[in-house]
Amino acid sequence: MNTVNGTSKKIVAIQGDITQQAVDAIVNAANKSLLGGSGVDGAIHRAAGPELLAQCRLLNGCETGDAKITKGYNLLAKWVIHTVGLIWRDGNHGEKKLLASCYVRSLEIAAEKGLKTIAFPAISTGVYGFPVELATPIAIRTVKEFLQKNSSIQQVIFVCFNDQLFEIYRQLLPQILSESN
Ligand code: ADP
Repeated sequence: MNTVNGTSKKIVAIQGDITQQAVDAIVNAANKSLLGGSGVDGAIHRAAGPELLAQCRLLNGCETGDAKITKGYNLLAKWVIHTVGLIWRDGNHGEKKLLASCYVRSLEIAAEKGLKTIAFPAISTGVYGFPVELATPIAIRTVKEFLQKNSSIQQVIFVCFNDQLFEIYRQLLPQILSESN
């Protein structure tokens, strides 16, 4: 498996499948219904099994930019944090702010639960159409800033599902992590 470490070992990018990650929590790029969907959402529900959907039904959906947590059921991860990104329009409709909010809310929930290791997919960059070149710096900077303020989370893993995405993280992660704020 390809990996790239940031200067801070706390934040890493790997190429792989998020459903296979043995971490405390994986983050799901869900939709507002929280009742399953395509892409990473579908993969997580398939791997977790039907109990995940049963628990999601009790959550009454989730607002865009917010997150909710469930158990991980058949996954290696004990928890799934479901967050809802915004469908990309042109970048002038709050997309960037809401994407950052997805990362912050997911990390806040993880920290509240005392979780130490969290894996993220590239939220909103699939069906929701957020350009990867714009989403990746937002994802990295938001996580970096959160971890600077919060010391309880030990590792955040960006799980890149394809070569192109991993290449972008491979380039940007060391660069952004070495920037002084
Ligand atoms: P969204 O609707 O938020 O855009 P998608 O699931 O369509 O969500 O895509 C988000 C990202 O998740 C994309 O980069 C996609 O390649 C990636 N992805 C899809 N399946 C997996 C998986 N099993 N593990 C990790 N990432 C995945």
